[in-house]
Amino acid sequence: MAEIVVVFDFDKTIIDCDSDNWVVDGLSATDLFNQLLPTMPWNSLMDRMMRELHSQGKTVEGIAEVLKRAPIHPRVIPAIKSAHSLGCDLKIVSDANLFFIETILEHHGLRDYFSEINTNPSFIDKEGRLRIFPHHDFTTSSHGCNLCPPNMCKGVVIERIQASLSVEGEKTFIYLGDGSGDFCPSLKLGDRDHVMPRKNFPLWDLICKKRELIKAKIHEWSDGEELEHVLLHLIGAISTQENNSSNSAQLISVDCKLQTMSTSAHEALPQPLSVPH
Ligand SMILES: [Mg+2]
Ligand SMILES: [Zn+2]
Repeated sequence: MAEIVVVFDFDKTIIDCDSDNWVVDGLSATDLFNQLLPTMPWNSLMDRMMRELHSQGKTVEGIAEVLKRAPIHPRVIPAIKSAHSLGCDLKIVSDANLFFIETILEHHGLRDYFSEINTNPSFIDKEGRLRIFPHHDFTTSSHGCNLCPPNMCKGVVIERIQASLSVEGEKTFIYLGDGSGDFCPSLKLGDRDHVMPRKNFPLWDLICKKRELIKAKIHEWSDGEELEHVLLHLIGAISTQENNSSNSAQLISVDCKLQTMSTSAHEALPQPLSVPH
């Protein structure tokens, strides 16, 4: 039973680009995408773009090949594997879609490290066209959050995860993200949790402006190397705190796991970001 739950955004957090833009650009459909963007929600537009690409003879296999070339910082992969080996429960909350995310994770051998992928559903229809649907069906009802796009409120997802895990006892959440859609879930974190906003990205900007609304401790990062360093630091520090108030049997098992970490991860908890008001 993991005590630490690490929730990752996907685009510009795990991978170093936006997967939707990557596919559209990679299949030379950028002009049409930009032309249609003002006319429909992003999520609906991605489904429409898949229709356009299919009608141009672009296959799902071709889309997958583009996805496999999406940039990922080389330290992100070991960071995910280390967090998992330290006993953390890893989850994804993303406004991309399941096909894009699973294709990239499987390509890097990472799929099995995540217990949950919360995103927009997708499937390949009889004609071989990739279909992309909203996570939240906004045609029948609204999720009621005015911070988030109509197809997905990541805050609702976080609350669902918090509620489902609360029966196991208290958890410490670490949330990593970059985008404005990651602000709502950051607001749902409590004072024992941690948020890791990517520095100089929209989530970080929003947190800087509305610092007083965030109960979680804030730790910024800029690239995959810092992501790994800060995340493993935090996990080490949280585990140590838990061990101090826990029994010796657990202490031994966690100590063994800690040996797989770099020495830097044994240093003190990184200082929370101080944000000017
Ligand atoms: Mg993102
Ligand atoms: Zn929301």
